[in-house]
Amino acid sequence: MTDDKLKAAILIVSDTASQDPSTDKVADTLTTLFSTEGSNTWARPATKIVPDSVFDIQRAICDWTDGPNWLNLILLSGGTGFAIKDNTPEAVSPLIHRHAPGLVHGMIAASLEITPFAMMSRPVAGVRDKTLIITLPGSPKGAKENLQAIFRLLPHACIQAAGTDSRAIHAGGVKKLEAEAGVSSGGHQSVARHGHHHHHHDHSHGHGHIVPKAHTAPSERPQSNDPNAGPNRRYRESPYPMLSVDEALKLICEQTPDPLVVELPVTTALVGTVIAEDVYAAEAVPAYRASIVDGYAVIAPESAETGPTTKGVFPVASISYANPGGTLPPLEPGTIARITTGAPLPPNANAVVMVEDTVLASATSDGKEEATVEILTGDIKPNENVREPGSDIALNSRILHKGDLITAVGGEIGLLAASGTKTVKVFKKPCVGVLSTGDELVEHDDPKQLHGGQIRDSNRPSLLSCLASWGFPTVDLGIARDTPVGELERSLRDALRGVGRAKTSVDVIITTGGVSMGELDLLKPTIERSLGGTIHFGRVSMKPGKPTTFATIPFKPSSSTQQTQQERETKLIFSLPGNPASALVTLNLFVLPSLHKLMGMGEKQTALGVPSTLGLPLISVNLAHAFPLDPKRTEYHRGIVTASRSDGRLYASSTGLEGVGQRSSRVGSLASANALLVLRPGTGKIEKGSLVEALMLGPVVAVE
Ligand code: AMP
Ligand code: MG
Repeated sequence: MTDDKLKAAILIVSDTASQDPSTDKVADTLTTLFSTEGSNTWARPATKIVPDSVFDIQRAICDWTDGPNWLNLILLSGGTGFAIKDNTPEAVSPLIHRHAPGLVHGMIAASLEITPFAMMSRPVAGVRDKTLIITLPGSPKGAKENLQAIFRLLPHACIQAAGTDSRAIHAGGVKKLEAEAGVSSGGHQSVARHGHHHHHHDHSHGHGHIVPKAHTAPSERPQSNDPNAGPNRRYRESPYPMLSVDEALKLICEQTPDPLVVELPVTTALVGTVIAEDVYAAEAVPAYRASIVDGYAVIAPESAETGPTTKGVFPVASISYANPGGTLPPLEPGTIARITTGAPLPPNANAVVMVEDTVLASATSDGKEEATVEILTGDIKPNENVREPGSDIALNSRILHKGDLITAVGGEIGLLAASGTKTVKVFKKPCVGVLSTGDELVEHDDPKQLHGGQIRDSNRPSLLSCLASWGFPTVDLGIARDTPVGELERSLRDALRGVGRAKTSVDVIITTGGVSMGELDLLKPTIERSLGGTIHFGRVSMKPGKPTTFATIPFKPSSSTQQTQQERETKLIFSLPGNPASALVTLNLFVLPSLHKLMGMGEKQTALGVPSTLGLPLISVNLAHAFPLDPKRTEYHRGIVTASRSDGRLYASSTGLEGVGQRSSRVGSLASANALLVLRPGTGKIEKGSLVEALMLGPVVAVE
């Protein structure tokens, strides 16, 4: 009847034990405690060993808390001291939804009775979803003493944390468990608390009489809203400094990791990747002396003095076709050999006379073949109409440089194929996940009529198609609702780990929505407070796109995926504004340069020795009409750039000037647009005919 017993797990955190599990004694000690003092209440705990790594610890915990097979209790042992590698509390704290300082006090108080060194432990305890998580010291003795101090109370805590749907509760074991623990729920709040109690963060940290003292400087704390603080406590103006677009781009470039190298077979799938290592020809092209024309292979003299002229009637001694057939007989002086374009010259031959310079002199007796042919010219020089071996591609010559893009034009693939290159080292294209956020969103193809404040999710399809057109592998991460709290965090974690909807782990996550100033704008707090990410900027002075947010999240690949594929240890999150035009503009402006760097586009040194530019190509265009200016922010005005055939100049017009034309919610402002016109802040208007910069989204349109 394990089903009505509480389920626990023991996570040993130790570099040593993870190398050699036999060195661990804690798992046995604690398991024995469970069986001797709680076998009626607890199923035999699962155990696992991880190194002193925040990510391994977090991954193990989430595996035991986030899925349908969540456990009631996780005990961690080790990594709670002051040594540099001790980071168990740092790994556990961000995962905890509700802290339980009482358990911490209980453990420390009990240990202090035994040794003052109890002060040297930094335990944390609390509840994630329905699971109680407690850290214990790493020594078997310390772990056991700490656990014993609170052991009898744990069933009660776990049952409360589990809420009404705990199987243990349905099994009717509450009273029994409480009796065993020596506690009673009489007078306490009912065990059957309703709803998502774990979302109502308690503020019990400050209870008691200790005067609270900050251990961090304000600059070290998350700047994001604490979503649990409620609307009255949220910031009314974004606390993030407003960066210029250039400052934001610089930060993105600095924080984007260097590209990873993969070796791929030479196939059409290489198109759009960047060469990671100079490529040298494995074979010469041509591999033999080949004819450039259809005609007759001859022995041409260096000059009239050194040999007989090629002019005259000659017997046709052999025939060479462009095929891999066997060896050719050497050409005897005074004879010629018929040869086709690309075919190998017979030995001794040194030039080819094109068929146009010859006439048939006589046929064989059966009339089917040429017997003799007359060559009409005496001007043939040695090597004429011959491609020497390696004259197209010399053996071991460099055919492609690191940083070269393999284009769809075909030249690069052609070089690789011709030279017999089998595999090539290229930079790995980043995989990009796209997540929409918001309670109001409905799938764009949902057949039901919209009601209330519902809107169709247009950002996901528009962003995914843009990314696919750039050639990046994408993952559709679906919609994360603003409520219940935790859904967004889970979606992001799944995307990073490549579980759930994300079948493969992504390098870059793009979210839209949830970065404005509303109380349900959860992106920033989730990234900072739950995922341990760093927000590099949260506001940019531009129109549209002001709330654009960029963050990095440290990530430790699991050992299994590490073996099968290379994974990045820093993942990027671009949290773009929800408004559809803003989302697309900022995707082009901020995400593309980062993806370019990840795919190795920055590795090419231009003639001036500087890395080639990333992101959209920037050109100068003439304004076809006057444009209004924003007094403060640079506007990325959606425009159409045409190339005039009559005067050879480029002209830009707006996709919609009047009224709501450029409003950030109007995704139509990007329909038919091929450029973002960079309009610097100013008063009034910028005149027709002015020269402005344009970032090209697509090809220029030709007009008369
Ligand atoms: P938010 O940043 O979440 O406040 O969103 C700003 C605006 O963009 C709101 O009007 C949202 O309804 C809208 N929006 C958010 N996400 C999407 C989406 N995926 N597709 C279309 N509109 C969206
Ligand atoms: Mg929203």
